[in-house]
Amino acid sequence: MSENRVVLLGTKGGPAIRPGTRMPTSSLVQIDGFTVLVDAGLGCTRGLCDAGVALTDLDAIVITHLHSDHYLELGPLFHTAWTAGLNKPVPVIGPDGLDRYWQGFLASMEFDISLRLRDEGRPELAPLAEISVIAEGAQALGPLTMKVLRNAHPPIEDSFALRFDGGTCSAVISGDTAPIPEMVPFAEGADILVHEAMLSAGIEALCARVGNGDDRLRIHLERSHAPADQVGRIAQEAGVKQLALNHLVPCDDPNFTETHWRDETRRGWSGPLFIGTDGMAISLDT
Ligand SMILES: [Zn+2]
Ligand SMILES: [Zn+2]
Repeated sequence: MSENRVVLLGTKGGPAIRPGTRMPTSSLVQIDGFTVLVDAGLGCTRGLCDAGVALTDLDAIVITHLHSDHYLELGPLFHTAWTAGLNKPVPVIGPDGLDRYWQGFLASMEFDISLRLRDEGRPELAPLAEISVIAEGAQALGPLTMKVLRNAHPPIEDSFALRFDGGTCSAVISGDTAPIPEMVPFAEGADILVHEAMLSAGIEALCARVGNGDDRLRIHLERSHAPADQVGRIAQEAGVKQLALNHLVPCDDPNFTETHWRDETRRGWSGPLFIGTDGMAISLDT
């Protein structure tokens, strides 16, 4: 059986990239030989290949919410997988509205897609993405059980945390969320909790640097995201085996280093800690 693991493909919080920054959010979960992409932020296609996963080997895609840093590359991912030989439908589970994005993507690429159908004899692209609306609760996903928890990411209501349970291990992805008490029972005993995190001390500097927003950006960050020390406490209370931080905000400020992240998170968490970087692979077979 292949290794059970999580690979953090993109670990940056928010949609903007600049010279030297990480890529926005997507994560790979591989449990019991089943391969799931969670979120499809910019760079996910390259990230999958760099993680050694053929684009034709994805078994399912789950989108946690419809902020662009979590699904901007979904269409390009499918199109690229299609040109790389994808010929079976892949389930895509996400919030209501994802189908509209997919239809819009297909329409925007109509010239190229119809050309390749005629010219290269490819199968139809549209049915390869088998989109369904995500629902709270538990559902089977291949050999896994996927549990879905509505988290707290205002003003978006349809924003979710995910838990994947296999035969011998489990992984929890928080999605974008403020700290919520429900995360503790949801993540209980998991082999890994991948939780979004924010360094409160870096928020003022970040807002000053962005330059084209107003105070609403700071207010959004503070009520919709999770300070690292509180993430540590959630992991500790949930008794997870490992904690990884992703969706780091800020992550392109040289004044805030890995040490800052560790110090903040350690206020609540004493177990194995990974401050996410793009391409970081974490085994669940420990
Ligand atoms: Zn985000
Ligand atoms: Zn978000």
